[in-house]
Amino acid sequence: VPLTYSSSVPLAPRTTLQLGGAARRFVEASSEAEIVEAVSSADRRGEPLLVLGGGSNLVVGDEGFDGLVVAVKSRGVREVDSGTFDVEAGEPWDELVERWVRLGFSGVECLSGIPGLAGATPIQNVGAYGQEVKDVLVSVRVWDRRAREVRELPASGCALAYRHSRFKEEPEHFVVLGARFLLARSDHSSPIRYAELARALGLREGDTAPAARVRETVLALRRGKGMVLDAADTDTRSAGSFFMNPIVESKQADAVDARARARLGGDVRVPRFPGDREGTVKLAAAWLIEKAGFPKGFALGSAAISSKHSLALVSRGTSSSDLLALARMVRDGVEAAFGVRLVPEPVLVGCTL
Ligand SMILES: Cc1cc2nc3c(=O)[nH]c(=O)nc-3n(C[C@H](O)[C@H](O)[C@H](O)COP(=O)(O)OP(=O)(O)OC[C@H]3O[C@@H](n4cnc5c(N)ncnc54)[C@H](O)[C@@H]3O)c2cc1C
Repeated sequence: VPLTYSSSVPLAPRTTLQLGGAARRFVEASSEAEIVEAVSSADRRGEPLLVLGGGSNLVVGDEGFDGLVVAVKSRGVREVDSGTFDVEAGEPWDELVERWVRLGFSGVECLSGIPGLAGATPIQNVGAYGQEVKDVLVSVRVWDRRAREVRELPASGCALAYRHSRFKEEPEHFVVLGARFLLARSDHSSPIRYAELARALGLREGDTAPAARVRETVLALRRGKGMVLDAADTDTRSAGSFFMNPIVESKQADAVDARARARLGGDVRVPRFPGDREGTVKLAAAWLIEKAGFPKGFALGSAAISSKHSLALVSRGTSSSDLLALARMVRDGVEAAFGVRLVPEPVLVGCTL
């Protein structure tokens, strides 16, 4: 069956922010072969390409996308060995997590409730509550647009780090067709490494708990922050966290503390977590945003900071311009207050901050 290409297809309904213009051309690809065919056809024509998963990490500008959008719809999960699963890029991530927990596999229970598709999880090394996709990813099956061939990239060759990967470094090079994950055969979670989650479970960090209970607890914590998609909760009309937690040298973190004390008085300190390199620390972006004067619920036109979580920007309109204006205001306000420049986490399509 030949692929069906459409023109002027609105992208807003295909993103969780529900913002932005249309795709000049659009096609759904339901198998690996169809993805390769659609991507190759754009490359042959020299046409800009956007690979679309669940649209949960995208801000689409009002001008839309002047090229071909390939919506990934390929499905399929195969257990190739005990605990080793090959997953097609179009599998909804949270359905996988739910199934793995139910079948007695652990290692992803803390990644419950994250929207989007499995094929997108290596792109920003999806992470939450102390787990990252990096911990369970074996390899990524890709279409190499330069070599024009299918390749298996070992996870070790994907430069996976905090919200980062090789795919972000070379956005035009690879399309993810599928991924291989290795889970532990256990109905107990991996050791809990996140203080808030450990507290909610009544455990200490390093303890384990039944994976099903960890999943339920993570979902409850996430719902409380508007971080589980819910059409009835307008605080979930977001792209998740809008800014990354900045990773800075310890010296710079001390400078941020000094500015925080000067600004807020007393012995305040910005919450710190271990960075991913020696001598670095990760700062809590949500804290910086609040203390820079942007409380939960802060609104600018049709955009607002979620009333449940300072790190999520939500939209109530149809145009992305208010959301982008709010994002700039928050970024610049945090920089003026603390000397740290926040970097957006979602991918911006046809727009900039
Ligand atoms: C309510 C909410 C909560 C969230 N919570 C978290 C969280 O806890 N942790 C976290 O890490 N993220 C979180 N996110 C962000 C988002 O869900 C993840 O980044 C997710 O992996 C994006 O998947 P997607 O299929 O929606 O990707 P999309 O938004 O469709 O695409 C994102 C980017 O990946 C590219 N891409 C997608 N699929 C492919 C592919 N097959 N090949 C090549 N490139 C591809 C796209 O071109 C785009 O650049 C949250 C988002 C929302 C809305």
